[in-house]
Amino acid sequence: MYNEVRKYDPQLYAAMQGEVLRQQQNLELIASENYTSKAVLEALGSVLTNKYAEGYPGKRYYGGCEHVDVAEKLAIDRAKQLFGADHANVQPHSGTQANIAAYLSLINPGDTVMGLNLDHGGHLSHGHPLNFSGRYFKIIKMNVSKDTELLDYDEMEKLIEKERPKLIMAGASNYSRQWDWARIKRAADVWKCFLVTDIAHYAGLIAAGIYPSPVEYADIVTTTTHKTLRGPRGGLILSKACYAKSVDRTNFPGNQGGPLMHAVAAKAVCFKEALEPSFKTYQTQVLNNARKLAAEIQARGYRIVSGGTDCHLMSVDLRPKNVTGKEAEIALDKAGITVNKNMIPYDPQKAMVTSGIRVGTPAITTRGMVEKDMAVIAGLMDEAITARADDKALKAIKEQVKALCAGFPMYPGFEN
Ligand SMILES: *Cc1c(COP(=O)(O)O)cnc(C)c1O
Repeated sequence: MYNEVRKYDPQLYAAMQGEVLRQQQNLELIASENYTSKAVLEALGSVLTNKYAEGYPGKRYYGGCEHVDVAEKLAIDRAKQLFGADHANVQPHSGTQANIAAYLSLINPGDTVMGLNLDHGGHLSHGHPLNFSGRYFKIIKMNVSKDTELLDYDEMEKLIEKERPKLIMAGASNYSRQWDWARIKRAADVWKCFLVTDIAHYAGLIAAGIYPSPVEYADIVTTTTHKTLRGPRGGLILSKACYAKSVDRTNFPGNQGGPLMHAVAAKAVCFKEALEPSFKTYQTQVLNNARKLAAEIQARGYRIVSGGTDCHLMSVDLRPKNVTGKEAEIALDKAGITVNKNMIPYDPQKAMVTSGIRVGTPAITTRGMVEKDMAVIAGLMDEAITARADDKALKAIKEQVKALCAGFPMYPGFEN
């Protein structure tokens, strides 16, 4: 594989080959990652990357766009069908770029935005002080309740009344329960506030109809295409018809130059795959695996934030074991199990240490793992965390992980 790179650039080839092996041999439990199909990879590696196509299908600033127009139209039509949206813009380079366009389609710098507290599962682009969102806008945080660890809608409604944000950004990177989109929409309407929902994490489950969709409620919906949706790294904006023009203009020329046409083509493939009945089967397995894994982790003496999950991810509180997120992440890495440390709500630890890890099942489910494998994985995780000071034991666990993964080829026939 990668023969041209191997011949021309052995240094880079070694890194790429190392990554192939890492992806094949490790248990990938990062909730925001997945394995795309070979068809998506093929579109991504295609000559469409050579083409400039500023503008939109039929209205380009460059000649020779007749074929990439077809690719982009396919992606747009499929995205609209998949989510039941009036309008789709498939050009954002990333989820963050999609959010920039969403904000600037509706409000101006200096306006007030309400977003989920980052320590409670929110995303950087929902108001981190170093992110554009925190620099352009005045940010009000919504929180989860300390008791239930569920979104505190009563507090949210009071805050909206008090602070009168112009826009609510609803969505999360680490919230495992269902959002009550209808309730947020009602609160937004009372105060004539725009509602943007960012479904970057839940998009695949929503497309499959097994997680509530915000599309009928939100003025604009943003998402990534590379998480549960299992497509290429990139972003997508959906909107009501009345915002179509403004969304398109804000994305280009507002916020980006030429679209990445190879990525747009790969999104077209991804949306076609997501429209297949087999995608619903996949997402249902993702959810069943997440619920089983949460139960198995809990049974080993850890605490699952909010007590469980309604989606592909869970937040594990490690305090019952007197371990930090940082320590667990390092130990699991040494055992070939990839997770990320993450703040739990009201975390006493700092962001670089944390009391929790975030665990997700999209990638291992794509590999073909099912409920019975979740018990094995929870056992391996617990062994690794328990043996965190014992490098020899961690190495032995890594061998078990490798053997387990060998039974679930990443891309059959594609390993080396
Ligand atoms: C991952 C994520 C994004 C951003 O994605 P990038 O493509 O990394 O910019 C935006 N919002 C939420 C809620 C996310 O989880």
